[in-house]
Amino acid sequence: MRLKLAIIAGDGIGGDIVAEALKVMGAVGERFNHKFDFSFYLMGGQAIDTMGTPLPESTLLGCRDAQAVLLGAVGGEKWDHLKGDQRPEKGLLDLRSGLGLFCNLRPALLYEELAQACPLKEHIIAGGLDLMVVRELTGGIYFGPKGRSGEEMSAWDTMLYSEQEVERIAVKAFELAMKRNKRLTSVDKANVLESSRLWREVVNRVAKRYDEVTLNHMYVDNAAMQLVRNPKQFDVIVTSNMFGDILSDEASMITGSIGMLPSASLGEGNFGLYEPIHGSAPDIAGQDRANPLATILSVAMLLRHSFDLEEEALAVEQAVKEVLKDGWRTEDIMSSGQKRVGTKEMGNLVAQAISGKKE
Ligand code: NAD
Repeated sequence: MRLKLAIIAGDGIGGDIVAEALKVMGAVGERFNHKFDFSFYLMGGQAIDTMGTPLPESTLLGCRDAQAVLLGAVGGEKWDHLKGDQRPEKGLLDLRSGLGLFCNLRPALLYEELAQACPLKEHIIAGGLDLMVVRELTGGIYFGPKGRSGEEMSAWDTMLYSEQEVERIAVKAFELAMKRNKRLTSVDKANVLESSRLWREVVNRVAKRYDEVTLNHMYVDNAAMQLVRNPKQFDVIVTSNMFGDILSDEASMITGSIGMLPSASLGEGNFGLYEPIHGSAPDIAGQDRANPLATILSVAMLLRHSFDLEEEALAVEQAVKEVLKDGWRTEDIMSSGQKRVGTKEMGNLVAQAISGKKE
């Protein structure tokens, strides 16, 4: 198979971690006989410095022309003085909306080997944790009408959802639940918010098409509590933009390792943008210290969601598990008795595990 990808390394550790993801794709290509076509684009701080804008038109067009996008991270102190709409992060927001990416997938997976990093008690996480938050990404209160008014200054934001917006994210979540354990929790605040009552109605309507999936509804305040009280009750969670922003951060942090978690932003069809959940970590950039595993695991998501290459995705995830099991750790996930490696060596180890050519 030929896979046409747009690659954006970005700023800070972006270049360090994306280089390792490319290495891993090389190993996947060799083992499974796929050909990756990479086109490289600028975004964020580097694009501001060389082209005067965080999202050059050529980057947006190049991404639209690809089947999927792999991104490192953007941002850094150098650009912190710039106004909101000129900052590196604005490039990312514009790219997501320019590509019509309305569905954000954030897995929270606790690796047995890293269980000591989890801030929850042992009995709560016994047997591991594996859940997925599906967040609506382009609607709701972040994008609804907003403003300031009155002599006595007041400000307002609007949580606005259309049936169509809720339906398309619900369909993505049910489809995902079908591929996992057929359990879906829809999170809202339907006891208070009208937009949540519409959300619940539409999710119930979509549920009729997926009678194999067990659906339950939960208020967001309860969901926030249940995530730390008994996270294993969840498999797939679907929720609106703001609730998803908060819950996906909470869910990922219960795994305790920011350098380990990938994400996907999906649009209609198979197109998607894949990136680690962490930022550009300027404090460790270019020092061979960053953990590349979140980006490498983003490659697994890319293979699964944009190309339906389940075996290849599993091979990447399995290789990561194997490397961790063998005791290899970057410094952010290091614990006593383990073997410390840098960014490049971690990439090499995963690529070798995929090729079956362990040193
Ligand atoms: P950050 O995620 O970059 O870093 C937080 C801490 O985690 C730092 O100590 C960093 O060294 C560490 N860390 C992050 N990723 C790591 C990795 N792969 N391996 C080892 N350690 C890692 O968050 P921040 O410091 O708040 O932000 C730094 C910059 O990144 C800012 O400019 C911010 O705006 C930007 N940012 C970008 C994105 C994105 O591109 N999607 C997301 C969040 C923050």
